[in-house]
Amino acid sequence: MKTLLARALRSPRLSAVKRAILWARGLAFAGSRYRCPCCNSGLRGFVGRWGALVPNSDGYCPRCNSKARHRRIWLYLEEHTDVLVEDLCVLEVAPWWALARRLQRQPNVRYVGLDQRRTGPQVTLIGDARSIPLESSTVDALLCVHVLEHVVEDQRAIAELFRVLRPGGWAVVSVPLRLDRMTDEDPLVTDPDERGRRFGERGHVRFYGIDLTERLEASGFGVRLHRASEVPETVRRECGLREDENVFHCTKPGA
Ligand SMILES: [Zn+2]
Repeated sequence: MKTLLARALRSPRLSAVKRAILWARGLAFAGSRYRCPCCNSGLRGFVGRWGALVPNSDGYCPRCNSKARHRRIWLYLEEHTDVLVEDLCVLEVAPWWALARRLQRQPNVRYVGLDQRRTGPQVTLIGDARSIPLESSTVDALLCVHVLEHVVEDQRAIAELFRVLRPGGWAVVSVPLRLDRMTDEDPLVTDPDERGRRFGERGHVRFYGIDLTERLEASGFGVRLHRASEVPETVRRECGLREDENVFHCTKPGA
């Protein structure tokens, strides 16, 4: 195993206090109407940032704090990848604890969580997505969930994802996406309020359109877009998914 990678393989474990809070919250919101695929919990609802039930299903899981995007990604991984069966080293860029924990519980997965700072135990490697501190072709699979819309030089980040992935490996990428138009970006828009109005959030530097496929292909990836509409309506409702969470499945040629 490569040296840099070996150092980054650690187990994400929350503090006892945070685990106790999530456990108690999971108990308080236990039910059978909804289901979180990330933690396999039956729920009576999803919650908002402050822990109250939200009227629609698009909220946080009270048990593992997954967002709709993470539940969509986990369902996608289960159905469309070999993450449950093959021995894989999986890199998650800007990791989220719910996904990190789910992956870490797979005996066949070695997990690496990359972020610019230590936001929680899910971060096992400090670094920038535009210059990932790993040797080339070292990971078998990677997740990049709602990251690229924050990165000014997204083409550099995409090239880095391609570089660290082994030939034949796969990457799952998702972003806020509008399927009916091209990407909207303007480097002159730097005011956070203006970015929020135009790109959806104050920290976003663009709003991606359907041409993200070409941006990913430009780095060498083979790309297939799995649309949110491919998820059955019953699953979408039960698992608290959004109607616009599309997934790009990218593969690096070779084997
Ligand atoms: Zn959950």
